Amino acid sequence: MSAGERDVVVVGGGLLGLLVAEQLAQRHRSVEVLVSPRPDPRSDSQRNHSWLQSGLLYPDNEHARKMYSDGLEMLESFGYPPPTKGGVFRFSSEQEVKVFFDHANKIKLRGKVKEISDDEARTRLGVFYQRGCFHFEVPDAPFPEAALMELARARARAFGAQFRECYVTFERDERAANGYVVVAGGQRMAPTTTISCAGAGTPGLLRALNLAHPLTVSQSVLLVIDDATQIRVPLLADRTSGLTVVSWNRFDSPPRGRLVIGAAERRSLPPEAEDLDRRILPSEEAFLRSLLPPGLNVEKRMQRFTSGQKTDVLVDGRPTIAPWVYAPKEFPGLVFGTPGKATLAYAVAQRILSHIEQPSKPGGANPGEGSGEPPPGTLWHAPIRGHHEPEYDSPHKRRGR
Ligand SMILES: Cc1cc2nc3c(=O)[nH]c(=O)nc-3n(C[C@H](O)[C@H](O)[C@H](O)COP(=O)(O)OP(=O)(O)OC[C@H]3O[C@@H](n4cnc5c(N)ncnc54)[C@H](O)[C@@H]3O)c2cc1C
Repeated sequence: MSAGERDVVVVGGGLLGLLVAEQLAQRHRSVEVLVSPRPDPRSDSQRNHSWLQSGLLYPDNEHARKMYSDGLEMLESFGYPPPTKGGVFRFSSEQEVKVFFDHANKIKLRGKVKEISDDEARTRLGVFYQRGCFHFEVPDAPFPEAALMELARARARAFGAQFRECYVTFERDERAANGYVVVAGGQRMAPTTTISCAGAGTPGLLRALNLAHPLTVSQSVLLVIDDATQIRVPLLADRTSGLTVVSWNRFDSPPRGRLVIGAAERRSLPPEAEDLDRRILPSEEAFLRSLLPPGLNVEKRMQRFTSGQKTDVLVDGRPTIAPWVYAPKEFPGLVFGTPGKATLAYAVAQRILSHIEQPSKPGGANPGEGSGEPPPGTLWHAPIRGHHEPEYDSPHKRRGR
């Protein structure tokens, strides 16, 4: 297929891009997914906590209501059962517990939170236990995000979607049918439909078309420890300090054995740095260390600091977790999407699809087409790794576009 005849181009191979590509390919649209060159340090979906959010963390957020049900629906559509072991939320004041309960009521999860005794908390939290706190079991748990992405990509390919590694920019072009072109690997394309799922790269693509937008990008620091034995719950969220700990057990499937520890503090990124720079500032590292329990056994060789970027929507001047889908009038067929949370990606993918008409193009891919090896010339071969692979943190690999 020549560049001018492409039906749908999806920019970005994070969770959202893969879900959109899979859905479109199943609808027999001819899809090309443009993914940034590997390794893919900018994919938040490969660097986050993979935490099936219940929404209980976000009392003021209207989207909190849907995080859990949307997340479960996403798992179900890929044949994954809901997680059986819940995580623990910790509070240090009765006032915090009251806010938590009121919110749990509002989002209809009250029946799914259960107070646990101090003894049980001590046993389950290991070195992360803190005396004098209130502990609650919650439905939040890690989910197999990398495996789900792998499956979405495999299905998309089986239905004929093609993947290409290249960095993408957009340009206004009055000669093009829709008023813009997609520039990918030196090639200019004028697709009928372009869906941008570029995560933290989204503001840059919008800017290239002079489109005003409410997105902000910030960076959170994570500490990844190659030992998940120091805690016996899959997840701990300390609501007072903002500390979060997610444990992937080696004996789970897929095998995992890592603690990913994060802190609430975030750094806003200036526009020009928003999609690449991931250096950790000493102050951020020090802040995260200050939240860690003194008994945590962390040898230098089995730990590393990393970071993840987050795209939020400004509402009344405040960054807010919210799905954002935008189809600018001046560019027909162009849709931008960011889910705000991985948990919301499936629902956002559906919303994006509802923006696009569904004609099956003559010459579009048939089901099953492309189910073997990728066609010659397709550069995609990078596997979607388990999260927080050390190679994503290499400054050398980070530079290559
Ligand atoms: C520290 C942290 C922890 C988080 N934890 C959770 C959690 O536990 N649970 C949860 O539900 N959510 C969590 N989130 C949010 C969640 O990770 C994101 O909302 C979600 O991953 C976004 O998916 P995406 O596909 O939109 O973006 P991404 O996964 O970032 O994918 C975008 C892709 O587009 C590519 N790209 C960007 N620009 C270009 C370009 N110009 N050309 C080509 N490719 C490009 C990027 O390389 C990337 O691969 C967390 C976020 C952070 C920062």
